[in-house]
Amino acid sequence: MDLNTVTALHRPTGRAELNGRLGGEPGRPDPDLGIAPLAGGTWLFSQPQPMLHTLVDLTALGWPPLIVAEDGLEIAATCTLHELAGFTAPEHWPALALVRPCCAALAGSFKIWNTATVGGNICLALPAGPMTSLAVALDAVALVWTPDGGQRRLTVAELVVGERRTGLLAGEVLRSVHLPATTLTSRTAFRRAALTAQGRSGSVVIGRRDAQGQFVLTVTAAVDRPYRFAFPFVPESVELAAALDRVPRWYDDPHGAPDWRRAVTLLLAEEIRAELA
Ligand SMILES: Cc1cc2nc3c(=O)[nH]c(=O)nc-3n(C[C@H](O)[C@H](O)[C@H](O)COP(=O)(O)OP(=O)(O)OC[C@H]3O[C@@H](n4cnc5c(N)ncnc54)[C@H](O)[C@@H]3O)c2cc1C
Repeated sequence: MDLNTVTALHRPTGRAELNGRLGGEPGRPDPDLGIAPLAGGTWLFSQPQPMLHTLVDLTALGWPPLIVAEDGLEIAATCTLHELAGFTAPEHWPALALVRPCCAALAGSFKIWNTATVGGNICLALPAGPMTSLAVALDAVALVWTPDGGQRRLTVAELVVGERRTGLLAGEVLRSVHLPATTLTSRTAFRRAALTAQGRSGSVVIGRRDAQGQFVLTVTAAVDRPYRFAFPFVPESVELAAALDRVPRWYDDPHGAPDWRRAVTLLLAEEIRAELA
């Protein structure tokens, strides 16, 4: 849809041009700024944004979508779901088998896949954000560019703090997420539940077991922010259920009632536990 309050569009092509474009004083969040980064625009242009007067298009910055290095995989914030899903993972990184089901968990058409970005999905911070699920499950670290020209790092689990809430401060952009090689060698298991075949995820549960035997379970979509449960080894059923019972609130919206979300998450978690045991 047309965003008829937006009167300016900036398309910086380098960091120097980006700095200051997004406003913001370091350390001071300002939700009324009226300026937003634009990535794929699949959400920004899907509903009225009356607070916005300026968009800063990140796609002209020309960040390489995917960089394979010895220490892991760097995914640019502007990497599209299409680019990510088409990536051929090196054989020694079996955990990247999670990429396809996570991309498919965003039940949009190819038009959305071709445009929606990994960074846009994480920064939007919807409970059913499948790039958040992928990133948290693989212990991804976010690289954030600050408006003063600096940068900081935090895990994606720390970045996404609630429904539509992130730890980004005014003027900050997510530059990339880094999936460490140490987690990419893990065995993984993926489960997703939705009320309808093409419906938004009601629960996404991902398990990971690394070479040392550590077991990590990540729950998204059923909760308002990602929950990550780590055990030094595969836990017993009761231990896992007890950990999940510490979730204070199960998410409630038309895509699933809290009691259903809790029940289905426990079921999927137990399937994953058994599969990775
Ligand atoms: C049919 C359909 C189905 C969908 N299903 C889902 C779904 O299942 N789950 C889900 O989570 N979403 C869903 N969406 C919403 C949306 O399409 C996705 O979340 C998408 O990944 C957003 O990415 P984008 O690049 O289009 O973001 P944009 O629309 O460009 O931006 C989204 C938000 O993130 C901010 N932003 C973008 N990039 C950055 C950055 N690098 N740094 C800081 N802030 C940034 C923007 O300012 C904006 O607030 C769906 C949309 C449609 C149309």
